[in-house]
Amino acid sequence: MRIALVAHDQKKEDLIQFVTAYKSILIEHELFATGTTGTRIIDEVGLNIFRYKSGPLGGDQQIGSAIANNEMDMVIFFRDPLTAQPHEPDVTALIRLCDVYQIPLATNMGTAEILLKGIEQGFLDWRLLEERRSR
Ligand code: PGA
Repeated sequence: MRIALVAHDQKKEDLIQFVTAYKSILIEHELFATGTTGTRIIDEVGLNIFRYKSGPLGGDQQIGSAIANNEMDMVIFFRDPLTAQPHEPDVTALIRLCDVYQIPLATNMGTAEILLKGIEQGFLDWRLLEERRSR
């Protein structure tokens, strides 16, 4: 599966911990991230990951574009609900496109754990997602 990982600044530490804990599952998949999030994952967890631009510089929109082109299967986006973001419209647009295209989206660690456990147990696989999206 193609999985996008994004975290706002105040949530990056949580995402690093999460990615470290689930490294054995994530390593089996094609990973994408916004710029700063991706750099931290590469440096601190050692996973291979494609980096888009930094979120405030268009990275969230690039992930949205991948979703619209049917090139992304899941989004894990640890957003910060307590801090105003300069690129809030991009964040909203990304979340909206996940809903438009029925892409599984986790905006916090609790949901992200359930999604990755779903992948691990085979409840969420590429074919099922593809089928759901084509409806
Ligand atoms: P960043 O972008 O990974 O480049 O910090 C994340 C975001 O704020 O959308």
